Amino acid sequence: MSRSSRPVLTVFFDGLKPEGLTSMPFLSSMPYRAPLRTLLGYSIACHASMYTGVYPDRHGLWFLWQRSPETSPFAWLRKVPLLSLVDSLPARLGVHKLTASRCPYTSYWGLPRIVNLPLRYWPEVDVSETRYWDEDGYVPGYPTVFERLRAAQVPYDTLGLHRGGSGPHGIEAVEHKPLPTIKPWTYLFVGEPDGLSHRYTQEGPQTKAMLRRLDQIVEARYREFESRVGEFDFIAYSDHGHIAIEDRINPYELFEQSADDLNRYMHLIDAGYLRLWFRTPEERSQAERVLANVPQGYILDEETMAREHVDPGEGRYGELIFYLNAGTIFSWTTFGYGRKQRSMHGYLPSHPESDGVFITNCSRPTEKVVQLVDILPTLLDRLGLPVPAGLDGQPVLA
Ligand SMILES: [Zn+2]
Repeated sequence: MSRSSRPVLTVFFDGLKPEGLTSMPFLSSMPYRAPLRTLLGYSIACHASMYTGVYPDRHGLWFLWQRSPETSPFAWLRKVPLLSLVDSLPARLGVHKLTASRCPYTSYWGLPRIVNLPLRYWPEVDVSETRYWDEDGYVPGYPTVFERLRAAQVPYDTLGLHRGGSGPHGIEAVEHKPLPTIKPWTYLFVGEPDGLSHRYTQEGPQTKAMLRRLDQIVEARYREFESRVGEFDFIAYSDHGHIAIEDRINPYELFEQSADDLNRYMHLIDAGYLRLWFRTPEERSQAERVLANVPQGYILDEETMAREHVDPGEGRYGELIFYLNAGTIFSWTTFGYGRKQRSMHGYLPSHPESDGVFITNCSRPTEKVVQLVDILPTLLDRLGLPVPAGLDGQPVLA
């Protein structure tokens, strides 16, 4: 059997760390298991890199929220007089609901709720990801695995790629979904480990019980492939690890303690990042003075961002980006209050608990660390398709 005629079964686990495999005896029995190196950022950056084979400094998706007054779906607020006078949590929720109902974005996150940002800044912001992962034009200029396979007329099936919202979703909803034929590529998307790990940590009993269950579901599919097609390539991987939270910082209190007000600045807050924009050089100096008092983090410099292949995008993602060390989060973020968060990711890839996993039934020619950008070229290679020049990743299997 030629290599290109072997079907490939890929299983993606969101947020599975190598230690999680202790609850997954089937995956642990695979011939090759190794850590996978993640990227500096969250799902947005990871997904775009694993689907396109290039780093965030090229595909341009780093954080979910960005400064983009030209494209903001909240631009209509500019015509609303006295916005600051009506600003309150109920007003914010109402404005969000109204805007989201008219917003054409089809991405997984759509237009997420904004909780902690004064309404007067909303016409400045937009999301970076506006289309779903498998749609045409997901990242302009960088075709995804889905676009490449469609262009090459290679049939594929996806299982578990749901679009958020209500209704049955998750891997248990597709556990028994029949595959009338086994196509060259089957993609099983398993989102559960990330959400459960955020809530209970990956070491928590609830998460471990689900990992055992997921292991059984994947084994059942594996056995099905064995009986229906005989030989096939199996590749399971995750995008990042998980790190238990030990310390929380309220960013608004931080500025108050220095007799300043964070709301004075256009700002966006992710769990581990505070991103700021300034009207004057004095504002920047003042913010830098406040942040100098925070020993749990530091301002990302150009050298670090270049090394990690991320790019602030001419200020789109922040004129100043303050990073919190692994294990610390901001309790108040743009999205809400993070009260249920007990574990987080998005920290520097060099932290050992930032690693994802890479597992296969194939052999590997080298021990070179597998990265997210290697996933696409590896798949194309296994399917017998040419690997395009100019990708940041490369095939990693023999
Ligand atoms: Zn997550």
